[in-house]
Amino acid sequence: MSTMASTDLATAVEDAAAHLYVWALKDIPQDLRDALRDAMGRETHKVGKRILETINTNVSVADEQGNLVCQDTGIAVFYARVGERFPLHPARIEAALREGTRRATLEHPLRSNTVHTLTRKATGDNTGHRIPHIHWEFVPDWDGLDVKCVPKGSGSENMSFLKMLVPADGVKAIKRFVLDSIVGAGGKPCPPGIVGVGIGGSADLAMHLAKEAIARPVGTQNADPDVAALETDLFGLLNDTGVGPMGLGGDTTVLAVHVEQAHTHITLNPVAVNYQCWAARRASAHVSAAGDVDYDREA
Ligand code: SF4
Repeated sequence: MSTMASTDLATAVEDAAAHLYVWALKDIPQDLRDALRDAMGRETHKVGKRILETINTNVSVADEQGNLVCQDTGIAVFYARVGERFPLHPARIEAALREGTRRATLEHPLRSNTVHTLTRKATGDNTGHRIPHIHWEFVPDWDGLDVKCVPKGSGSENMSFLKMLVPADGVKAIKRFVLDSIVGAGGKPCPPGIVGVGIGGSADLAMHLAKEAIARPVGTQNADPDVAALETDLFGLLNDTGVGPMGLGGDTTVLAVHVEQAHTHITLNPVAVNYQCWAARRASAHVSAAGDVDYDREA
């Protein structure tokens, strides 16, 4: 690999990151549009229906004006799937994703949200220490790179919860914890959205999995039938709570429940909840080893 080729590839990844961040904020995926429209059609609660109509109008206005669907540009979260033969080291990919985020923020310009946690001093460009956050997956026998950008707003991120249940508590306690979390959150995470649930692993892995779960297309099911059954159960239970759109009552508290799981220690039973609001923004790109970029709003 020549230095020039490596530089060109880094630029391609950087450009893709900059484009994905802005695109995700403006043009929400079709599965989410469909879910919001279907919910509006089904909703029987007067106030809930009115709110869903307003959300759908919000999406249309953003389309017409080429504007953001929500003012909160969030923290840029990236999911990078890197082939073992992709000719750019992850350290360079990380630098490119960071620079793309910085450029998009300054060039668009976008609102910058990133501050030092203690001093609250703003960085001004949506980057900072360990921000943007990147989830990594490494793929054998492949030379490509998939990048997904999921801007994560604070209203929903503030409604994140972790509990270290004991195994004797069983699945019932997992369901109870998810229900308590979402009912307790009420309107704060801008419902109806996607409830991401991570089960198993360790404390940090459970929350990591919950975050991965919210990045899936709306309503996709886990490949493990036991996990998929839990998704279906939780979806019904949560929509029976009556929390409704923006927490003001209704049939539609969530658009989807996505669960991701990992095996765990015999004495552990962790469960984490990560909420994604109705503005469940995401956009993806595939970068080839030659630096060609294909964009995909639906992945
Ligand atoms: S939680 Fe979502 S919809 Fe609500 S303000 Fe934040 S980004 Fe916007």
